[in-house]
Amino acid sequence: MPIPYFFALCLVFLIGAAIASFLCNVVYRLLHQEKFLKNRSKCEHCQHFLEPWDLIPVLSFAWLRGRCRYCRQPIPAKYWLTEIITGVIFVISFVTVFPSIAADFNNPELYFKLLFEWWSIGILLFVALYDIEAMMVIEAVVWIAILVTAIFRMLLLSWQPLGPSLAAFASMAGVAILNALFIWTIVLISKEQGMGKGDIGLAFLIGLIAGWPGAVASLLLAFVSGATVGLMLIALRTKTLRQVIPFAPFLAFGGITAMLFGEAIIRWYSQTFLLF
Ligand SMILES: [Zn+2]
Repeated sequence: MPIPYFFALCLVFLIGAAIASFLCNVVYRLLHQEKFLKNRSKCEHCQHFLEPWDLIPVLSFAWLRGRCRYCRQPIPAKYWLTEIITGVIFVISFVTVFPSIAADFNNPELYFKLLFEWWSIGILLFVALYDIEAMMVIEAVVWIAILVTAIFRMLLLSWQPLGPSLAAFASMAGVAILNALFIWTIVLISKEQGMGKGDIGLAFLIGLIAGWPGAVASLLLAFVSGATVGLMLIALRTKTLRQVIPFAPFLAFGGITAMLFGEAIIRWYSQTFLLF
Protein backbone atom coordinates (compact mmCIF):
# COMPACT_ATOMS: atom_id res chain seq x y z
CA MET A 1 0.00 0.00 0.00
CA PRO A 2 1.50 3.40 -0.97
CA ILE A 3 2.26 5.53 2.08
CA PRO A 4 0.15 8.58 1.03
CA TYR A 5 -2.85 6.26 0.53
CA PHE A 6 -2.30 4.76 3.99
CA PHE A 7 -2.25 8.24 5.51
CA ALA A 8 -5.40 9.16 3.59
CA LEU A 9 -7.13 6.10 5.07
CA CYS A 10 -6.00 7.07 8.59
CA LEU A 11 -7.28 10.61 8.05
CA VAL A 12 -10.65 9.33 6.76
CA PHE A 13 -10.88 6.99 9.76
CA LEU A 14 -10.27 9.91 12.14
CA ILE A 15 -12.86 12.08 10.34
CA GLY A 16 -15.43 9.30 10.78
CA ALA A 17 -14.45 8.80 14.44
CA ALA A 18 -14.62 12.55 15.12
CA ILE A 19 -18.09 12.79 13.55
CA ALA A 20 -19.25 9.82 15.66
CA SER A 21 -17.82 11.45 18.79
CA PHE A 22 -19.63 14.69 17.96
CA LEU A 23 -22.94 12.89 17.30
CA CYS A 24 -22.71 10.87 20.55
CA ASN A 25 -22.19 14.19 22.33
CA VAL A 26 -25.21 15.82 20.62
CA VAL A 27 -27.45 12.84 21.51
CA TYR A 28 -26.23 12.96 25.13
CA ARG A 29 -26.85 16.70 25.43
CA LEU A 30 -30.28 16.46 23.77
CA LEU A 31 -31.35 13.79 26.24
CA HIS A 32 -29.87 15.60 29.25
CA GLN A 33 -31.27 19.00 28.22
CA GLU A 34 -27.84 20.61 28.08
CA LYS A 35 -26.89 23.63 26.00
CA PHE A 36 -25.00 22.71 22.85
CA LEU A 37 -22.16 25.07 22.29
CA LYS A 38 -21.89 26.92 25.58
CA ASN A 39 -21.08 24.00 27.86
CA ARG A 40 -17.79 22.19 27.65
CA SER A 41 -17.80 18.39 27.84
CA LYS A 42 -17.36 16.93 31.30
CA CYS A 43 -17.00 13.58 33.00
CA GLU A 44 -20.34 11.87 33.72
CA HIS A 45 -19.11 10.82 37.18
CA CYS A 46 -17.01 13.61 38.71
CA GLN A 47 -18.34 16.47 36.48
CA HIS A 48 -14.73 17.58 35.89
CA PHE A 49 -14.41 19.59 32.65
CA LEU A 50 -12.51 17.66 29.98
CA GLU A 51 -9.50 19.14 28.24
CA PRO A 52 -9.12 18.95 24.43
CA TRP A 53 -6.59 16.10 24.76
CA ASP A 54 -9.17 14.08 26.73
CA LEU A 55 -11.52 14.35 23.77
CA ILE A 56 -9.42 13.01 20.88
CA PRO A 57 -11.61 10.37 19.20
CA VAL A 58 -10.49 6.72 19.67
CA LEU A 59 -7.03 7.69 20.97
CA SER A 60 -7.92 9.36 24.30
CA PHE A 61 -9.97 6.36 25.42
CA ALA A 62 -7.15 3.95 24.54
CA TRP A 63 -4.50 6.18 26.15
CA LEU A 64 -6.53 6.55 29.38
CA ARG A 65 -7.36 2.80 29.29
CA GLY A 66 -11.08 3.58 29.40
CA ARG A 67 -10.98 5.57 32.64
CA CYS A 68 -11.51 9.23 33.51
CA ARG A 69 -8.19 11.06 34.00
CA TYR A 70 -9.51 12.80 37.10
CA CYS A 71 -11.68 10.31 39.04
CA ARG A 72 -10.50 7.02 37.41
CA GLN A 73 -14.12 5.90 36.95
CA PRO A 74 -14.69 3.85 33.79
CA ILE A 75 -15.85 5.75 30.68
CA PRO A 76 -18.60 3.82 28.84
CA ALA A 77 -16.93 1.79 26.08
CA LYS A 78 -19.97 2.31 23.82
CA TYR A 79 -18.65 5.74 22.74
CA TRP A 80 -15.28 4.26 21.84
CA LEU A 81 -16.90 1.38 19.91
CA THR A 82 -19.19 3.78 18.05
CA GLU A 83 -16.19 5.90 17.03
CA ILE A 84 -14.24 2.88 15.78
CA ILE A 85 -17.18 1.39 13.86
CA THR A 86 -17.97 4.76 12.23
CA GLY A 87 -14.30 5.28 11.34
CA VAL A 88 -14.25 1.87 9.65
CA ILE A 89 -17.50 2.58 7.72
CA PHE A 90 -16.03 5.89 6.48
CA VAL A 91 -12.90 4.04 5.32
CA ILE A 92 -15.04 1.47 3.46
CA SER A 93 -16.96 4.29 1.76
CA PHE A 94 -13.67 5.98 0.79
CA VAL A 95 -12.12 2.74 -0.51
CA THR A 96 -15.14 2.02 -2.74
CA VAL A 97 -15.18 5.51 -4.30
CA PHE A 98 -11.41 6.11 -4.43
CA PRO A 99 -10.59 3.99 -7.55
CA SER A 100 -12.97 6.16 -9.60
CA ILE A 101 -11.46 9.33 -8.13
CA ALA A 102 -7.92 8.11 -8.89
CA ALA A 103 -8.95 7.41 -12.51
CA ASP A 104 -10.82 10.70 -12.97
CA PHE A 105 -9.27 13.22 -10.63
CA ASN A 106 -11.09 16.32 -11.91
CA ASN A 107 -14.61 14.94 -11.79
CA PRO A 108 -16.55 16.84 -9.09
CA GLU A 109 -19.37 14.25 -9.17
CA LEU A 110 -17.16 11.68 -7.42
CA TYR A 111 -16.25 14.01 -4.55
CA PHE A 112 -19.89 14.92 -4.25
CA LYS A 113 -20.84 11.24 -4.16
CA LEU A 114 -18.37 10.70 -1.30
CA LEU A 115 -19.82 13.71 0.54
CA PHE A 116 -23.34 12.31 0.03
CA GLU A 117 -22.28 8.93 1.46
CA TRP A 118 -20.69 10.58 4.52
CA TRP A 119 -23.78 12.71 5.09
CA SER A 120 -25.98 9.59 4.87
CA ILE A 121 -23.79 7.58 7.26
CA GLY A 122 -23.73 10.48 9.74
CA ILE A 123 -27.47 11.14 9.74
CA LEU A 124 -28.44 7.44 9.99
CA LEU A 125 -25.93 6.98 12.79
CA PHE A 126 -27.43 9.93 14.65
CA VAL A 127 -31.00 8.58 14.37
CA ALA A 128 -29.81 5.10 15.45
CA LEU A 129 -27.88 6.41 18.48
CA TYR A 130 -30.84 8.51 19.56
CA ASP A 131 -33.19 5.53 19.24
CA ILE A 132 -30.86 3.31 21.31
CA GLU A 133 -30.72 5.89 24.12
CA ALA A 134 -34.28 7.25 24.05
CA MET A 135 -36.21 4.29 22.53
CA MET A 136 -37.76 6.59 19.95
CA VAL A 137 -37.00 7.88 16.48
CA ILE A 138 -36.27 11.61 16.48
CA GLU A 139 -38.83 12.55 13.83
CA ALA A 140 -37.98 16.26 13.41
CA VAL A 141 -34.42 15.33 12.44
CA VAL A 142 -35.70 12.63 10.05
CA TRP A 143 -37.91 15.17 8.22
CA ILE A 144 -35.07 17.66 7.84
CA ALA A 145 -32.80 14.82 6.70
CA ILE A 146 -35.36 13.78 4.04
CA LEU A 147 -35.34 17.33 2.64
CA VAL A 148 -31.53 17.61 2.62
CA THR A 149 -31.14 14.10 1.12
CA ALA A 150 -33.66 14.89 -1.65
CA ILE A 151 -31.63 18.01 -2.55
CA PHE A 152 -28.42 15.93 -2.51
CA ARG A 153 -29.97 13.34 -4.84
CA MET A 154 -31.20 16.01 -7.28
CA LEU A 155 -27.73 17.55 -7.39
CA LEU A 156 -26.22 14.10 -7.99
CA LEU A 157 -28.70 13.58 -10.85
CA SER A 158 -27.48 16.78 -12.51
CA TRP A 159 -24.35 14.86 -13.57
CA GLN A 160 -26.43 12.16 -15.26
CA PRO A 161 -27.05 12.40 -19.03
CA LEU A 162 -30.77 13.13 -18.59
CA GLY A 163 -30.28 15.53 -15.69
CA PRO A 164 -32.65 16.03 -12.76
CA SER A 165 -35.83 15.26 -14.72
CA LEU A 166 -39.32 14.90 -13.28
CA ALA A 167 -39.26 11.18 -14.17
CA ALA A 168 -36.02 10.67 -12.25
CA PHE A 169 -37.44 12.51 -9.26
CA ALA A 170 -40.66 10.48 -9.41
CA SER A 171 -38.84 7.14 -9.50
CA MET A 172 -36.64 8.27 -6.60
CA ALA A 173 -39.67 9.28 -4.54
CA GLY A 174 -41.49 6.08 -5.59
CA VAL A 175 -38.79 3.85 -4.09
CA ALA A 176 -38.86 5.87 -0.87
CA ILE A 177 -42.67 5.68 -0.67
CA LEU A 178 -42.63 1.90 -1.23
CA ASN A 179 -40.05 1.50 1.53
CA ALA A 180 -42.16 3.60 3.90
CA LEU A 181 -45.38 1.75 2.96
CA PHE A 182 -43.76 -1.58 3.71
CA ILE A 183 -42.78 -0.51 7.23
CA TRP A 184 -46.17 1.19 7.70
CA THR A 185 -47.91 -2.12 6.92
CA ILE A 186 -45.81 -3.88 9.53
CA VAL A 187 -46.50 -1.13 12.09
CA LEU A 188 -50.26 -1.59 11.44
CA ILE A 189 -50.13 -5.40 11.60
CA SER A 190 -47.97 -5.46 14.73
CA LYS A 191 -49.99 -2.66 16.38
CA GLU A 192 -46.80 -0.67 17.05
CA GLN A 193 -45.14 -3.48 18.97
CA GLY A 194 -41.42 -3.24 18.31
CA MET A 195 -41.77 -0.76 15.49
CA GLY A 196 -43.27 2.70 15.79
CA LYS A 197 -44.51 5.48 13.54
CA GLY A 198 -41.05 7.04 13.57
CA ASP A 199 -39.67 4.05 11.70
CA ILE A 200 -41.96 4.86 8.74
CA GLY A 201 -40.28 8.23 8.12
CA LEU A 202 -36.90 6.63 8.62
CA ALA A 203 -37.73 3.96 6.00
CA PHE A 204 -38.66 6.78 3.59
CA LEU A 205 -35.29 8.46 4.25
CA ILE A 206 -33.44 5.18 3.68
CA GLY A 207 -35.35 4.65 0.41
CA LEU A 208 -34.02 8.03 -0.76
CA ILE A 209 -30.48 7.20 0.36
CA ALA A 210 -30.22 3.63 -0.95
CA GLY A 211 -32.28 4.07 -4.16
CA TRP A 212 -33.26 1.16 -6.36
CA PRO A 213 -32.53 -1.75 -5.86
CA GLY A 214 -30.58 -0.89 -2.71
CA ALA A 215 -33.76 -0.05 -0.78
CA VAL A 216 -34.95 -3.67 -1.06
CA ALA A 217 -31.60 -4.87 0.26
CA SER A 218 -31.79 -2.34 3.11
CA LEU A 219 -35.07 -3.79 4.43
CA LEU A 220 -33.85 -7.35 3.99
CA LEU A 221 -30.68 -6.56 5.97
CA ALA A 222 -32.63 -4.68 8.65
CA PHE A 223 -34.98 -7.60 9.33
CA VAL A 224 -32.29 -10.30 9.18
CA SER A 225 -29.91 -8.37 11.46
CA GLY A 226 -32.73 -7.30 13.79
CA ALA A 227 -34.02 -10.87 14.16
CA THR A 228 -30.50 -12.26 14.65
CA VAL A 229 -29.54 -9.74 17.34
CA GLY A 230 -32.98 -10.01 18.99
CA LEU A 231 -32.71 -13.80 19.24
CA MET A 232 -29.14 -13.54 20.52
CA LEU A 233 -30.18 -11.09 23.26
CA ILE A 234 -33.03 -13.40 24.27
CA ALA A 235 -30.68 -16.42 24.26
CA LEU A 236 -28.20 -14.50 26.41
CA ARG A 237 -31.13 -13.56 28.67
CA THR A 238 -30.33 -9.84 28.51
CA LYS A 239 -33.78 -9.28 26.94
CA THR A 240 -37.07 -11.16 27.16
CA LEU A 241 -39.58 -11.66 24.36
CA ARG A 242 -41.79 -8.94 25.78
CA GLN A 243 -39.11 -6.28 25.84
CA VAL A 244 -38.88 -3.95 22.88
CA ILE A 245 -35.60 -3.65 21.03
CA PRO A 246 -35.13 -0.35 19.13
CA PHE A 247 -35.45 -1.01 15.39
CA ALA A 248 -33.88 2.18 13.97
CA PRO A 249 -30.30 0.90 14.45
CA PHE A 250 -31.11 -2.10 12.23
CA LEU A 251 -32.80 0.08 9.61
CA ALA A 252 -29.75 2.36 9.70
CA PHE A 253 -27.40 -0.62 9.39
CA GLY A 254 -29.43 -1.91 6.42
CA GLY A 255 -29.50 1.55 4.82
CA ILE A 256 -25.75 2.17 5.11
CA THR A 257 -24.81 -1.34 3.94
CA ALA A 258 -27.26 -1.13 1.03
CA MET A 259 -25.94 2.29 0.00
CA LEU A 260 -22.38 0.95 -0.08
CA PHE A 261 -23.01 -2.56 -1.50
CA GLY A 262 -26.72 -2.61 -2.55
CA GLU A 263 -26.35 -3.93 -6.09
CA ALA A 264 -23.81 -6.58 -5.09
CA ILE A 265 -26.13 -7.80 -2.31
CA ILE A 266 -29.16 -8.04 -4.63
CA ARG A 267 -27.06 -9.88 -7.24
CA TRP A 268 -25.80 -12.34 -4.62
CA TYR A 269 -29.28 -12.83 -3.14
CA SER A 270 -30.98 -13.48 -6.47
CA GLN A 271 -28.23 -15.86 -7.60
CA THR A 272 -28.28 -17.79 -4.34
CA PHE A 273 -31.97 -17.95 -3.52
CA LEU A 274 -33.96 -17.12 -6.64
CA LEU A 275 -31.79 -18.98 -9.18
CA PHE A 276 -32.00 -16.54 -12.06
ZN1 LIG B 1 -14.32 11.72 36.19
